[in-house]
Amino acid sequence: MSLTRIVATIGPSSCDRATLMQLLDAGMSVARLNASHADLEWHAEAIRLIRSVAPEVPILMDIPGKKIRTTALAHEPSFEAGDTLVLTTDTSHDGRAKVPVSWAFLHERLSPGDTILADDGTLKFRVDSVTGRDIVCIAEVAGTLKSRKGINVPQVRLDMELVTERDHTMIAFARQHEIDFIGLSFVESAAHVRAFRTLCGADGPGIVAKIENAAGLANRDEVIDAADAIMIDRGDLSVETRLDTLALEQKRILLSARDHSKPVIVATEMLHSMITNPYPSKAEVSDITNAVLDGASATMLSGETAAGLFPLEAVRTMRAVADAAETYIYETGNAGPSDGQGPRGIPNAMRNAVALIATELPITKIVVVTLSGYAARVVASTRPKQPILAVTNDRRMARRFNLLAGTKGHFADVPFTKTSTDHITRCLEDVWRAGELQADDMILVTAVAYPRSGNRMNLVQTHVVADLIEALGWE
Ligand code: ATP
Ligand code: MG
Ligand code: MG
Repeated sequence: MSLTRIVATIGPSSCDRATLMQLLDAGMSVARLNASHADLEWHAEAIRLIRSVAPEVPILMDIPGKKIRTTALAHEPSFEAGDTLVLTTDTSHDGRAKVPVSWAFLHERLSPGDTILADDGTLKFRVDSVTGRDIVCIAEVAGTLKSRKGINVPQVRLDMELVTERDHTMIAFARQHEIDFIGLSFVESAAHVRAFRTLCGADGPGIVAKIENAAGLANRDEVIDAADAIMIDRGDLSVETRLDTLALEQKRILLSARDHSKPVIVATEMLHSMITNPYPSKAEVSDITNAVLDGASATMLSGETAAGLFPLEAVRTMRAVADAAETYIYETGNAGPSDGQGPRGIPNAMRNAVALIATELPITKIVVVTLSGYAARVVASTRPKQPILAVTNDRRMARRFNLLAGTKGHFADVPFTKTSTDHITRCLEDVWRAGELQADDMILVTAVAYPRSGNRMNLVQTHVVADLIEALGWE
């Protein structure tokens, strides 16, 4: 089984039944939608299609949040270096005379001399003057400013509201369509994550915090602790902070996330050249390999699968490169992030014990019985080479577990009890009946027995499945 999850952004190049089936077959593990592009009707249809083709695949939807963008333009202006281009917060324009941007107060925050970057930093402008709602700019490089492309002004304090009106609409949409995760842009603090968690509700989507600016970097530990998963959006991060230290910041975030047993998605330009070519560059292959070696749970495709010419080849390439990196990890005996280190305490001791048993014994599968997914996260973060089956009696959580490296979520319709461990054997039986366990499997089982606050994983067992079949009279 492949451990690394592949997040594929679904867009015009991939949103049809045949392509989705091919992407799934090639190794897509999570489908991502970017709500900043296309309208909600398009996304509702995409969700319906993804659910019908791949009901077990979690859907991650990125919501616009605090990212400023150009609006949907009827005319996408091209320009040479030195040309004048007018941005405006008056959204009645269509790009021909002036290019509107999505945040109504941008003109109030900018002054002559400020730098504006666009489209993940590939375009650069200098503010010449601000008149009324218009921001008159001089292009510093030639290019085309397209619809709904990001606008960054890293040197300017924007003081935007934490939750916008549009975020409320998006959260309602995400809840209505039972989206598994929402991707939050420009997360800067744990409070930011908690504000959205409250809005999403306990039964709402999980939260993927996108670390993509200086404040997110500075507060990464609290952000990682508060979120369900992290995305390193290298597009905005490189523009908002520094390009030359980007790869190092990626390593730092991966290390912090490992200490918190939280999954990390590494995103942006992983196979960028495959938007137009059916083969990758060597640098891209190297980038994916290193992300996997450094402990990324998932690697992501954005424009490659959403709008590129070769979505299928991109997923296939990413899968092959990630699989090769995993093979290297196990051949060289470097079991990835499980190095037996970490803070003292029961959770970490259990984590190390599970990792040790999984390497010392001929274990073939690991079964985690879990409600919240805590134990699944902890076990997945040790990157065992055996597949992990994460069993829960919450249908929605079962699908979410599929974001974790090497993990397959399994729903078992079994009531969990706090006063005995009977539900654990019932879960094992359910997994066996579903054909996920065979008589000759040797399994490591982990769970929480008699849960009270504080003990979230305190039980480890090993079994040969044939013994369970006989001892418990399964037939
Ligand atoms: P983010 O900061 O969230 O990454 P982005 O604008 O870089 O925002 P991506 O999700 O990285 O967007 O996707 C890359 C590109 O693919 C987009 O800029 C857009 O051109 C295209 N794209 C993605 N989703 C769609 C869609 N649903 N419809 C049309 N184009 C899309
Ligand atoms: Mg971004
Ligand atoms: Mg992007």
